[in-house]
Amino acid sequence: MTSVPLHYLTLHEAAGLLARREVSSVDLTRAAFDRIRALDDSVHAFLTLTEDEALAQAREADGRIARGEAGPLTGVPAAVKDVISTRGVRTTCGSRILESFVPLYDAFVIERLKEAGFVMLGKTNMDEFAMGSSGENSAFGPTHNPWALDRVPGGSSSGSAAAVAAGMALYALGSDTGGSIRQPASLTGVVGFKPTYGRVSRFGLVAFGSSLDQIGPITRSVRDAALVFQAIAGHDRRDSTSAPLDVPAVTDALTTDLSGLRVGVPREYFVEGMDDDVRQAVRAAIDRMEDLGASVDWDVSLPSTGHAVAVYYIIAPSEASANLARYDGVKYGYSYREGAGMWDNMEKTREFGFGEEVKRRIMLGTYALSSGYYDAYYLKAQKVRTLIRREFDAAFEEHDVLVMPVSPTPAFKLGEKVDDPLQMYLSDVMTIPVNIAGLPGISVPCGFSQPARPGAADGSRLPIGLQILAKPFDEPALFRAAYAYEQATDWHKQHPEL
Ligand code: GLN
Repeated sequence: MTSVPLHYLTLHEAAGLLARREVSSVDLTRAAFDRIRALDDSVHAFLTLTEDEALAQAREADGRIARGEAGPLTGVPAAVKDVISTRGVRTTCGSRILESFVPLYDAFVIERLKEAGFVMLGKTNMDEFAMGSSGENSAFGPTHNPWALDRVPGGSSSGSAAAVAAGMALYALGSDTGGSIRQPASLTGVVGFKPTYGRVSRFGLVAFGSSLDQIGPITRSVRDAALVFQAIAGHDRRDSTSAPLDVPAVTDALTTDLSGLRVGVPREYFVEGMDDDVRQAVRAAIDRMEDLGASVDWDVSLPSTGHAVAVYYIIAPSEASANLARYDGVKYGYSYREGAGMWDNMEKTREFGFGEEVKRRIMLGTYALSSGYYDAYYLKAQKVRTLIRREFDAAFEEHDVLVMPVSPTPAFKLGEKVDDPLQMYLSDVMTIPVNIAGLPGISVPCGFSQPARPGAADGSRLPIGLQILAKPFDEPALFRAAYAYEQATDWHKQHPEL
């Protein structure tokens, strides 16, 4: 047995123990639920627990392992963000409007995980319809950061990140439209990976910004992220934007030497106002990559970076306003019935069913798409989107990966930004451009804030993440860089005291 407690095993370590029959999937699943029962009253990572189903799946997985039919994920218990459709299991999207919605089918990624021997612990808390950066927009109350319970875990995959960080799930699925996998991973000290747009099918992912959304893993190691990625990636006819490409064996790219790797550092990501601890941790991480053999170019420029947040807050709400039109109280979910006729019922369903932020986005998007404003806002944003994408293309002609921080600050306090949407939006300045360009991006733990530094917020030791990007469909370069860096450090082995 290893010295690591069961709940802090990596997926890969757990799979090894399962294969050697040192633990069973039922043991791991029971340990996960014990941990959830002990901690989730204070963390609030889960919205729905599926203990009976999980134990049945675990017994099935143990049977598969006994018959020698196990794959790398078989029998390892995991959590799923509540924006991913799960047949027969309530899927709320963190919203009152879907509070009692039970889907009739599984998302593509869930089908894939089930084929791989899935054990689903439950569905995780999130910002309503994935709109938010702190988890505080959930209709069911916020998730707390396991490293400091008075702080946010980031969002919108708040519960998935917190569950992995706190040892309540061995891995989790999240979704990322503007940073929602990478930013919470960074703020909770775990690994979060957003694949290239088109790499993972969006079939069964409840749509927010359809040209930006991707599903990806939140894990305790880079290898684990590669394993989950390989299981969920690949072409699916039911998503018209799914890329008809073979998925590379990214686990083959996991080597500890970076010789020949060309690393670029875009200067626009080291902005004024960013936290000193973040700046220092990320600079030190880049130096470390150089020690491992990479060549580092500190002089890359992506001049349109500063426009990305504005572009995103036109495009994402525009797409959301169309996507969320389906919640009319007729087809599914919450339905107000006491009104004066159909239109009144529909309006009240949306008025009572949606939270503030969701309504704000629907209004922004409807406005940006309305006749007379479409050219000035939506069309213009699409043009700037092309510029941003071209700047990345040019940078990737000379560099294999680009590195920068994930978030300008470590985890902020619960309540600190809820009344200031613009401040909240700005916490995604470094993650949003990646979705705009459709690139793969990962967050890897690279340090902690220094509680002793004068001016440091209340002495909490908070995780910091390093972001690594690669060109579209070059996930192997990204995993190579991320793995070599991770293996040269031990940030990912540190866990919150809970
Ligand atoms: N925080 C961003 C937003 O509020 C991104 C969310 C996401 O990636 N789903 O839209």
